[in-house]
Amino acid sequence: MKLATFDDDRVGIVVGDDGIVDITDRIGGSATDGWSRMRRLITEWNGSDEASLAEGAPLLSLSAVTLRAPVPDPSKILAAPVNYRDHQSEMQQQWHVSGLGFFLKAPSSIADPGSTVFLPYHDRRFDQEGELGCVIGRRAHRVSPEDALSHVFGFTGALDITMRGGEDRSTRKSFQTFTPLGPWIVTADEFGSPDDVDLRCWVSGDLRQEANTRDLIWGVARLVSYASWISALEPGDILITGTPAGVGPLADGDTVRLELARLGAPLEVTVSDSGAVASHTDGKDRGPVPPPPR
Ligand code: MN
Repeated sequence: MKLATFDDDRVGIVVGDDGIVDITDRIGGSATDGWSRMRRLITEWNGSDEASLAEGAPLLSLSAVTLRAPVPDPSKILAAPVNYRDHQSEMQQQWHVSGLGFFLKAPSSIADPGSTVFLPYHDRRFDQEGELGCVIGRRAHRVSPEDALSHVFGFTGALDITMRGGEDRSTRKSFQTFTPLGPWIVTADEFGSPDDVDLRCWVSGDLRQEANTRDLIWGVARLVSYASWISALEPGDILITGTPAGVGPLADGDTVRLELARLGAPLEVTVSDSGAVASHTDGKDRGPVPPPPR
């Protein structure tokens, strides 16, 4: 099942080439007031099948609605720093995920599919990182790798927009609009194995990243398990799995397009430097060394 958030906190099932069944009214409020409807739906999920959820609900045209980030308000976004060997090598990094652990991205950095990423500084480099995003379903605390995937609700596309330099990762990756998500969630049962997913990412028509998640150093099951020993993973939490080689600088006017096989549609955003100011910190010439622009 493909589940999307659209318009003003509405939730729908994406069907066919251009359909979305509006199931907003099927989602209760109760214990989770103040949460997005998608977060409620995931929290209260009881394995509903598509036919019973959609029965009698209005069918809208997908092209007539505005898609939003599928989970706009996760309690946290956990991210793997260096999780493909070719990216480790292009960044000249001595360590990968097993030496670095996780970092956190501010949930306020989430951006909608089709929206604009705003580059905050005119004197710093910002790169695209295309990644497979994992949405937690059942609460996971200290779960084993063998049990981890049973706590996953589904998968989505994620762009981990990154400022290069020596500041902490949570700073460099938490600017407003730096975590576009979408275009929707494909539930785990429909998505299939997260260990064999083709990923491609273009910037303004230039194919920069092409990889398969089989090359992840730590696959999704191990990442979820590991993360669950640090934090209790809550329904709707987002875990982004790392980016392959091919990161490169973004500029005003660029378009970024991330395609993940089995998602059914790409995640696309545009880039703007409107409002950019001088950097407030001195990390520009420190930290991991990114590949030169092609
Ligand atoms: Mn990343």
